[in-house]
Amino acid sequence: ADTTETLGESEALATLHRVFGYDAFRGEQEAIVEHVVAGGDAVVLMPTGGGKSLCYQIPALVRPGTGVVVSPLIALMQDQVDALRALGVRAGFMNSTQDFDERRVVEAEFLAGELDLLYLAPERLRLDTTLDLLSRAKISVFAIDEAHCVAQWGHDFRPDYLALSLLGERWPDVPRIALTATATRATHREITQRLGMPEARHFEASFDRPNIQYRIIAKADPRKQLLSFLREEHAGDAGIVYCLSRNSVEKTAEFLSRNGIEAVPYHAGLDAGTRAAHQSRFLREEGLVVVATIAFGMGIDKPDVRFVAHLDLPKSVEGYYQETGRAGRDGLPSTAWMAYGLQDVVQQRKLIQSGEGDEAFRRRAATHLDSMLALCETVQCRRSQLLAYFGQDQRTPACGNCDTCLAPPETWDGTVAAQKLLSTVVRLQRERGQKFGAVQIVDILLGRRTAKVIQFDHDQLSVFGIGEDLSDSEWRGVVRQLLAQGLLAVEGEYGTLVLTEASGTVLRREREVPLRKEPPKPAVSRSSASK
Ligand code: ADP
Ligand code: ZN
Repeated sequence: ADTTETLGESEALATLHRVFGYDAFRGEQEAIVEHVVAGGDAVVLMPTGGGKSLCYQIPALVRPGTGVVVSPLIALMQDQVDALRALGVRAGFMNSTQDFDERRVVEAEFLAGELDLLYLAPERLRLDTTLDLLSRAKISVFAIDEAHCVAQWGHDFRPDYLALSLLGERWPDVPRIALTATATRATHREITQRLGMPEARHFEASFDRPNIQYRIIAKADPRKQLLSFLREEHAGDAGIVYCLSRNSVEKTAEFLSRNGIEAVPYHAGLDAGTRAAHQSRFLREEGLVVVATIAFGMGIDKPDVRFVAHLDLPKSVEGYYQETGRAGRDGLPSTAWMAYGLQDVVQQRKLIQSGEGDEAFRRRAATHLDSMLALCETVQCRRSQLLAYFGQDQRTPACGNCDTCLAPPETWDGTVAAQKLLSTVVRLQRERGQKFGAVQIVDILLGRRTAKVIQFDHDQLSVFGIGEDLSDSEWRGVVRQLLAQGLLAVEGEYGTLVLTEASGTVLRREREVPLRKEPPKPAVSRSSASK
């Protein structure tokens, strides 16, 4: 219809109030919705949790016809559609999980103009039957979710997405909106080009969350470190503590409760009733701490989460960003705190190597982990590094609100230490044909005659005891940082240390290795904690 922009805007706002029950648009949402309602194409880059869905759902409701949403996340379609129906939105989906009859019902609803939104898997859109169906009713807008899947060199490339350029050719008058949460500048260009949207307006929400203070510390006694952090900075605050395993979730929740901090566990192993009860307590109560696996948080929209703590390393920077992003939605100062240690790296590598998935999948997982490690070990501003990861580096000099900005880490020349460590790895391998994990290597460097050192005659190696100038925790720091810099690698079920191609440059003295100083003593609580 012939709606003017102002009329569209007020209709959009009215829809936001009436259907979704929200007071106001967030950030760029309003401009995006207005542009698409008026018939314009848009490419939207917005972080996860930023509110991308409303950017196409509202235009679909305001404009006449059905909004068609292309999404690769088939597993989520049913939930999305259920959630919309609960709000009174007429939504349906078509994908491979349905049988013939179910699909027929949706088709009939679509043809009768009884759908506001229709979710489709991209492979459906390649079929002539689907295209014919779509041409037989009115379409209000095409939304292409996870649009970075069209980028051929990206992590998530899906060949089916390439066919989406035909939408613009067959339906030149229907506005298109492409949305993604992960896109570098290059990916952004590729989206525009491959989807054939040269006229599209680009909207780029900042990934920056200035009220969140990022801090990553060396793991020593993580539960005690967490306890002192909470006692000293977040007494009585609501927050989320993430752990990798269910077991460690349980233990940490117990530990906190025993030490006077109200905490409940949340993981997929608890029965649905307990999970729902803990979740609703978290939403309702003022200062509850939820200790959880990453199963917790999807769709949780609690504005006053004051801290998110990680006791284990997230698998990727995306994961870290998403999880820490649950803090401080109200814009007030909040903390993203993490304790991380060498064991995390070894454990994650093991999980990747022993886990499911083909070689390409493992390589991707390893790349993700490497970026996460680099963030942990950086001596630069954490926020700049985080934003650079999402392709938004130009804007941010040092932020002044992360640990490395607040207390710049001291660095030292670790070249000689790196050489000692790498030569130990080389010697074991060349002279003995052996590979060992970090513990044994550090014991050798420190000249410790442990049972295992004696058993393997490692006190006879020429490198035995050459690292006595550094402490155990300093050596572990060296190992971690060499891993993060790609100068050392860890492999196999036992987490053995091996050289990388780049190790040679250190051994041949072709480069220096600046390292971050370890804190002299791990910051364990001044106050008492009962185990
Ligand atoms: P994304 O798809 O970008 O990850 P969603 O569209 O799922 O994000 O939105 C994330 C959360 O924010 C949802 O719980 C959603 O209901 C909420 N939300 C989005 N926009 C608004 C708004 N304008 N006001 C209040 N809540 C909003
Ligand atoms: Zn900073």
